[in-house]
Amino acid sequence: MNEFNYKNGQLYAEDCPVVDIIAEVGTPVYIYSQKTLERHYQVFDQAFQGIDHLICFSVKSNSNLAVLRLFAQLGGGADIVSGGELFRCLKAGMEPRRIVFSGVGKTDREISFALDAGIMMFNVESEMELRLINRIASEKGKKASIAIRVNPDIDPKTHPYISTGLKKNKFGVDMDQAVALYQVAIEMPSIEVLGVDCHIGSQLIDISPFRETVLKLKEIVRKLGTLGISFQWVDLGGGLGITYKDEKPPTPDEYANAIKEAAAGMSQSFIFEPGRVMSASAGILVTRVLYVKHGTEKTFIIVDAGMNDLIRPSLYGAYQEIKSVKEMAKGVVADVVGPICESGDFFSKNREVPDAKQGDLLCVMNAGAYGFTMSSNYNSRPRPPEVFVNGDHFEVVRPRETYEDLMRGEKIPSWLE
Ligand SMILES: *Cc1c(COP(=O)(O)O)cnc(C)c1O
Repeated sequence: MNEFNYKNGQLYAEDCPVVDIIAEVGTPVYIYSQKTLERHYQVFDQAFQGIDHLICFSVKSNSNLAVLRLFAQLGGGADIVSGGELFRCLKAGMEPRRIVFSGVGKTDREISFALDAGIMMFNVESEMELRLINRIASEKGKKASIAIRVNPDIDPKTHPYISTGLKKNKFGVDMDQAVALYQVAIEMPSIEVLGVDCHIGSQLIDISPFRETVLKLKEIVRKLGTLGISFQWVDLGGGLGITYKDEKPPTPDEYANAIKEAAAGMSQSFIFEPGRVMSASAGILVTRVLYVKHGTEKTFIIVDAGMNDLIRPSLYGAYQEIKSVKEMAKGVVADVVGPICESGDFFSKNREVPDAKQGDLLCVMNAGAYGFTMSSNYNSRPRPPEVFVNGDHFEVVRPRETYEDLMRGEKIPSWLE
């Protein structure tokens, strides 16, 4: 479901013609639809009606302040993986008690910041991390709330780079070591055990790995119960996939029903950390065709956005649909490529795309998740602006970077001046 549709042959973002936005802010640009984000949150929330739950939006999928503020207003929380993401959440007015902190490599500075902010809990990924959190909390005279992220050794059947719940992955604590770690944790003076956590991967299309994960967590909760260790929260992570091409992921209702069924008999409350399913289809990347090059073997449509702006096709070989802002009947088999000096700089390869000419506007769909957040300044390219749309209003919520921005803080050493 999204709010990017054609009306009279022109692409609209909600009630704003995309061309009007481009006339004001230029290309390339990310455009987000508030209505789409709201609807995704509400649909997900309603699917879990009947069980006590908290939706902690995965900030790494889209960390713009506008997006975070919207989810905060809707009553959601956040799943963060760095101090920078925590800083953003606080700036956006997110309730610290609704923030969970995941990630295998939290630094002491990040732990300290999160303790001072008063976050809900740390999702702990190793014994050493647990010991460090205990030490820092004790120095501050505080108690740190934690869940242990377990690695359930379940194959999410997704791209290897975004599989996280297999024993060979760096994430979480192996199931057979987790119980012992809980026993260590409950003895620590500055630790409070609040839950158990897992996240097995991203862009999951199959529902069975989710079901298996719940069953494994249920088993560990039961085992811990027999040892007198109990807690309120079970964090099931994120990972629900979306349709980029022809994937048929479970609907939020199907996902929720499978989880409710597998979780039957558990008395805990649940945390979910959806990212992609909330934000992906709520965003597009609009780019202008610079040149069309007809090689002897191939046609290249060269656009003004590059892999530094949106890296998913290059990094994962990911499919992202490409549409034309002006509706076009005709298609052409071509590679849509960016200006970066890498052959991996493409948005599509060998597939039918709109038959766009020089100056036409194209948009890469489903770019609201892992789009801007994975962007960089490679090739010294200023990053694109982000625009937030609500009905027939739009506002730039992050301006286009300038050449000055590219060098902020950089200097020439004194001996070369
Ligand atoms: C990336 C991530 C998520 C979100 O994954 P999506 O596939 O975007 O839903 C949730 N939790 C953790 C710990 C993550 O690393």
